[in-house]
Amino acid sequence: MALSDIAEQLEKSDPALARYNRQMLWEPIGIAGQKKLKAARVLMVGCGALGTVLANTLARAGVGHLTIIDRDFIEINNLQRQVLFDQQDIADQLPKAVAAKKKIGQINSDVQVDAVVADVNHTNILNYAGGCDLLLDGTDNFETRFLINDVSIKLNIPWVYGACISAMGLAMVIRPGITPCLRCVFETVPPPGMNPTCDTAGVLGPTVNIVAS
Ligand SMILES: [Zn+2]
Repeated sequence: MALSDIAEQLEKSDPALARYNRQMLWEPIGIAGQKKLKAARVLMVGCGALGTVLANTLARAGVGHLTIIDRDFIEINNLQRQVLFDQQDIADQLPKAVAAKKKIGQINSDVQVDAVVADVNHTNILNYAGGCDLLLDGTDNFETRFLINDVSIKLNIPWVYGACISAMGLAMVIRPGITPCLRCVFETVPPPGMNPTCDTAGVLGPTVNIVAS
């Protein structure tokens, strides 16, 4: 389809879609893709460095429903890279999930956000993951990543692994039955404390943005 035809169709489409005009002009998305994004449900486990970039990007892109789970509160050393938070959130002593929901409401109020201030574990993850189209890893530990992996396989929902430290990062898309999963890559869960963390080795904002994007 010619770009001018796409632009004409966009003019006539639902006015609620107008804010997505620039990404709908990209043919692989178009109007049909935008409607799919609006209908999509995404579970984000963890809302720190990776999680805030993920949530920001998905909300602006028009993903219809986000469940954001994080048990932590915002600290001053988070602001260097956690793009959804600001000094006022710290003054208000907001949990990360609650601050993220508030900020997303200001960015795109069409997105439904469930903010859950909790620890994700084997007793509750199925409740949050059921019915989702995608699971996203915004965690900082292998224990939770293996949990996400196993739920992904069990419920046949794709997930995206992401990790960064210092100036390095990596991401992996896992599609059950199509790609290898995390257990294919790591046969056992690396024990806690074996790997350096952002608390010991630091992390740069650009690294986080590249990995999450
Ligand atoms: Zn596997």
